[in-house]
This record gives sequence, C-alpha cells and structure tokens, in this order.
Amino acid sequence: MTKACKLAAGNWKMNGLRADLDEARALASGLGQTSCGVLLCPPATLISAMAEAVAGSRVMVGGQDCAAQVSGAHTGDISAQMLADSGARHVILGHSERRADHGESSALVAEKALAAHQAGLVAIICLGETESERDGGQTLAVVLEQLAGSLPQGATSANTVVAYEPVWAIGTGRTPTLAQIAEVHDSLRANLPDAAISLLYGGSVKPGNAADIFAIANVDGALVGGASLKASDFGAIVAALDAA
Ligand code: PEP
Repeated sequence: MTKACKLAAGNWKMNGLRADLDEARALASGLGQTSCGVLLCPPATLISAMAEAVAGSRVMVGGQDCAAQVSGAHTGDISAQMLADSGARHVILGHSERRADHGESSALVAEKALAAHQAGLVAIICLGETESERDGGQTLAVVLEQLAGSLPQGATSANTVVAYEPVWAIGTGRTPTLAQIAEVHDSLRANLPDAAISLLYGGSVKPGNAADIFAIANVDGALVGGASLKASDFGAIVAALDAA
C-alpha cells in the first residue's frame, strides 16, 4: 500500500497584506531539507505575489476556496483555473467557516472539488463536528457523512487531501485528546476511497502540541490557522512533522 504524503498546510484566512509576505519569505529561507510538503494558503489577493516570493523554495501556495463553475456571471467568485493561473497548487474547500458563514453543503464542496481537480489543483477537503455534535456522541457519524458527501468521483491521493478539523477546536486553543483524534483519523482512513489520501488534523495546532499530534498513527500532517501566520511558529510545526 502506498503511504500517504506528509503535509503542513497553513491557512492565513482573511489575514495578510503585501508586507506580510516577509513571513512567507522567512519560512521559505529557513526550511531545511524537509521531506514533507509545505503549503501556505493566503487570501486570493496575495496568491500571485506569494508564489513569486517563494519561487524556487519548497513552499507551495494555495487558495482558500474556489467556485464550482468554470467561468461566467458569478460576481466576486474565483474559479479553480484562476487560482492555478495565479500560482496555486492546492485549494482548501469546505472549511467550517465557509460551511457556517456561507451555508456551504457537502454537495457543493464536492462540486467545487471536482472543479479544482479539473483545473489540476489538489483539493484539501475539511470536515469536523461541532461541540454539541461531539457532546451528543455523533462525531463519527457526522464526519463520515461529510466525507461521503464532500469527496467527488475520482478523488485519489494525487488530487485530494482530507483535513479533520473539529469546529470547537478552531482558533480556540482547545484540542481533542490524542485518543479522540486517533479515533476519528482511524475511522476516516478506513472509509477513504484511496487509503493513501493524506489525512491532516486541524484545530489549535501549535509548536508545543504538534509533535504529540504527529505521533498519532493516521495523522499525516496539519492544517494550521493562527500559527501559520508567523514563520517561526509554522517553521517549528514543519520541523515537528519532518521529525515524526
Ligand atoms: C483553521 O482555520 O483551519 C485552523 C485550524 O485554525 P487554528 O489553527 O487557528 O485553530
């Protein structure tokens, strides 16, 4: 069986101006001989400039969302092909902030992922339970339903990454126990259409907890929000993944 690739992905969310590209440059120049994939997903306004800033390094650049449509009358939306044309290699889809703030369903996420694949992008598909769903013992049912609904036909380890991000752990400083992360990742792995698809954990990953999380068997990396904004923090997370 092919082993899943390790990936440290940073989600800058709606943060970052051109001056902040210095953090991307610092990350790129500080990376050692890492064997894992390193990805930064800045706001769409910075994709092109960031791709130029880190050109020649191991840092890849991605988007945070794309339209399901290829082109046309969709004011304000950005197609997958446009992201690729700007220098993106990946796109985050179905982040809980988009599912909550923009009412995105798993069916829409699957349509967007298909558009991403057709444009040659790797889709990073996010899943995760709310706190009340966890308290109600529904975690596995919720994430497996999201997995089944959000992965498009043709999803393979070459074009898809899955990120488990408990909604209550995002930006809160709280994380599940290592056993809780392991339980969800084991279950996701068993239900993937291609067992070599990389499985990332996301939710308050920091330099201080990264090594413990990366030691979990079916965790292949992390999707990191706040701690990806500073090269020193994200670089330490990349180093922990490399050492795992
Ligand atoms: C995220 O936004 O995907 C995330 C995991 O954020 P944070 O690391 O800040 O919790």
